[in-house]
Amino acid sequence: MQQITVLSGGHGGAKFIEGLLHGIDSGTLPGVSPDAVVRVIANTADDLWIHGLKVCPDLDTVMYTLGGGLDHQRGWGRTEETWSAKDELEAYGVPNTWFGLGDRDIATHLVRTQMLEAGYPLSQVTDALCARWLTPTYGDRVRLLPMTDDRVETHVAIADPSSPSGRQVIHFQEYWVRLHASVPAEQLVFIGLPEAAPGPGVVEAITGADLVIVPPSNPIVSVGTILGVTGVREVLRATKAPVVGLSPIIGGAHVRGMAEQMLTSVGAEVSAAGVGLHYGARSAGGVLDGWLVDTTDAADLARLEAAGLKAASAPLWMSSPAETAAMAAAAISLIA
Ligand code: GDP
Ligand code: CA
Repeated sequence: MQQITVLSGGHGGAKFIEGLLHGIDSGTLPGVSPDAVVRVIANTADDLWIHGLKVCPDLDTVMYTLGGGLDHQRGWGRTEETWSAKDELEAYGVPNTWFGLGDRDIATHLVRTQMLEAGYPLSQVTDALCARWLTPTYGDRVRLLPMTDDRVETHVAIADPSSPSGRQVIHFQEYWVRLHASVPAEQLVFIGLPEAAPGPGVVEAITGADLVIVPPSNPIVSVGTILGVTGVREVLRATKAPVVGLSPIIGGAHVRGMAEQMLTSVGAEVSAAGVGLHYGARSAGGVLDGWLVDTTDAADLARLEAAGLKAASAPLWMSSPAETAAMAAAAISLIA
């Protein structure tokens, strides 16, 4: 295999790609060439405009993680971050300071916003940012592709007894960062998604792949939005490359993040099998050929196989790049 394409959200996807690259470099992935290239199609539906800046949380998490600039303790943003700008905004009584913009991180958003306002599409802006974070280490081996250059935003309807409709609709980031996904998401609205066109290179990354991997990312608000971009689901269903996924749910719970809330809001079962069946087998109208679950979820295998999926179990905790590389190897063995 010369080209592997990954459909990624933020933290879960980034950690997986880090392990995948470790596996390629250490030669532990069966059938994968040591100079294999990785194409990352990343979710952009978490993106938001805040304080006049365009912020792309999942693109930045992947970029900082692979480039060695991510604060691993926090799980987002830059290492050795300081927060003077945030404190100053608070002192002015500016609203929306729930979204933590660190001083170092702000530079990324300033560059991005200036380039967007000068007319560059997000894909080219992302290339420019990656010239700092990815190119020095990976050259052309790793490319980060926004799923679309069009504006797409996930919004969440939550209960609000004080509103005449009984509901309030907020940006997904507000639901996650300010409310910590602590109230039920009654409905998800993917603004702009039905009209969004795939970004440059996205279709080619899927049709030209030798393997497509759906990492343990959020199946609704990360991978689900990528699949919702016009034509992406169809291209994935048609590619000659095998498509294999790894469960983001272990023992009926998300490891971290809010996959449970998102699955519940779309009426999907919160289990390793539930997510696999939500994606579905390509042989039955879905997008996957294989689905890897954690060893604790081995009882789910029979249901997955009955639905037409190749299924197996392996430890799915991404505790280190070596352990994550072993997950990638198990996923590849499953569909090879
Ligand atoms: P986000 O955009 O930062 O929320 O990141 P993703 O969408 O890429 O991934 C978030 C999901 O990754 C979480 O909801 C978890 O279900 C899953 N996840 C995080 N860490 C692990 C892990 O160590 N193992 C597995 N199997 N899933 C994980
Ligand atoms: Ca995200």
